[in-house]
Amino acid sequence: MTAILVLLELEPATEVVDAEVGEADIGARVRAVHAAAADPEAPGDPLSRTLCGLDTDGLEPEPYVPAGPGAPWYPPEHRSRHCLDCDAVLRAG
Ligand SMILES: [Zn+2]
Repeated sequence: MTAILVLLELEPATEVVDAEVGEADIGARVRAVHAAAADPEAPGDPLSRTLCGLDTDGLEPEPYVPAGPGAPWYPPEHRSRHCLDCDAVLRAG
């Protein structure tokens, strides 16, 4: 199976980042969890599109890695928000 990276689609409110702190608490503002194939020329970076066709530039990288074969590709805490289109692509592959 191709290596995939998990990316978070956030609520628009999170686009306002505290300039002094330099980060925002994104945990509670996840709108959807997407997957993208890793860029073979830049390990750790996703390709420009998710499996469902979104531009990955606007998405937040999520360091989650599946625990092993059979583990879900999305973080368990975001189970209710995982992208069904990405899921379908992964299951088909
Ligand atoms: Zn998706």
